[in-house]
Amino acid sequence: MFDYLIVGCGFAGSVCARTLAERNKKILIIDKRNHIGGNAYDYYNASGIMVHKYGPHIFHTENKRVWDFVSRFTKWNDYQHRVLSYVDGKMMPFPINVDTINILYGTRYDSQTIDGFYKSLKNENMDIKNSKDMIVSKVGETLYEKFFRGYTKKQWDLYPEELDKEVTARIPIRFDRDDRYFINKYQGMPLQGYTRLFENMLDHKNIKIMLNTDYFEIKDEVNYQNLIYTGPIDYFFNYCFGNLPYRSLEFVQETYNMECYQKVGTVNYPNDYDFTRITEYKYLTRQKSPVTTIMKEYSKSEGDPYYPIPKKENNALYRRYEKESQELDNTYFIGRLANYKYFNMDAVINDALSLVDKIK
Ligand code: FAD
Ligand code: UDP
Repeated sequence: MFDYLIVGCGFAGSVCARTLAERNKKILIIDKRNHIGGNAYDYYNASGIMVHKYGPHIFHTENKRVWDFVSRFTKWNDYQHRVLSYVDGKMMPFPINVDTINILYGTRYDSQTIDGFYKSLKNENMDIKNSKDMIVSKVGETLYEKFFRGYTKKQWDLYPEELDKEVTARIPIRFDRDDRYFINKYQGMPLQGYTRLFENMLDHKNIKIMLNTDYFEIKDEVNYQNLIYTGPIDYFFNYCFGNLPYRSLEFVQETYNMECYQKVGTVNYPNDYDFTRITEYKYLTRQKSPVTTIMKEYSKSEGDPYYPIPKKENNALYRRYEKESQELDNTYFIGRLANYKYFNMDAVINDALSLVDKIK
């Protein structure tokens, strides 16, 4: 008899597994995939380069409790993510900062004078209803068109005006020359990779792991008292209210016989090519090798569910499932798929820690 059956070996499920195991609960954690780590899974490819199977994952948080918790299972490198955007035939820092403006327009603004420039573009009195307004209100139409409109259409197959404002609210506009993608206090990459981090987290005498196993295959075969489910909530309820829409991605790896392919970890292509961005993993992992692997991300509608699509009607549909989930005893729904929310890793870890606090 297990105290908990946990569905999904990503951060949501694994953090719950470890914290409950340390309270002497017996855990069975399963995943339908053939590996642990969920979407953060990484591995060495055939050329010996460490890559992230499901797209680049950079750890960043302001939350000390989260940082201290994951740091029990890994050491970190001090990587700080940098992104260039390819616009009008030139590479420039993204998020937009003082240098972006100077490269784009051949100007000489500094952190004192840029404020006036942004002010001349923005519309402060706008009622911000969607992801387009979010940007236009800060930097006006032209910069919105160059950096956001095309990228968002490629990524979501929707224009920013069709998406909730939270999607582009993730991207700040900078008044200085800081070219880091994230400015959080705690940032880095797990020194030996995410998969090793997960191996360490799940290495506990009270945790049993079962891979290649879908929840529905075993739910009636296993004896358990409580369930923590981190998969898609609509699948759990057999799509009884209809499918929750997700955006999927295709990840294409290319390996080159050169030490270095591009100037930074990620280059975004808002207006050119069919892919959204190219990531070169050696920047993130600091691995040394005479060859290098890049990953191109192509967005698509069919395939594995990666991004819940933040739109009013989707959120309303999710709330019908959520209501259903609240009727169930001893059953908890947590994580990006079960909560149908565009969460970063640290938010999922925080939720998992809070859930276990609450259960206690
Ligand atoms: P997941 O990692 O998706 O884990 C859920 C697991 O449940 C999966 O392994 C799945 O196989 C399993 N499962 C589902 N259904 C079933 C079932 N029926 N039976 C058995 N198993 C099941 N966050 C950051 O903080 N920084 C980043 O740089 C970052 N980059 C990202 C890039 C991309 C391309 C994407 C898509 C996401 C990125 N994220 C990033 C977000 C991050 O991936 C998530 O926050 C995190 O993976 C969520 O963890 P989770 O456990 O909720 O879900
Ligand atoms: N975005 C954009 N241009 C860019 C980068 C991001 O328009 O160059 C928008 C896009 O809608 C994207 C959102 O901002 O989905 C959030 O970007 P982020 O880099 O946080 O996305 P993620 O890493 O989650 O894919």
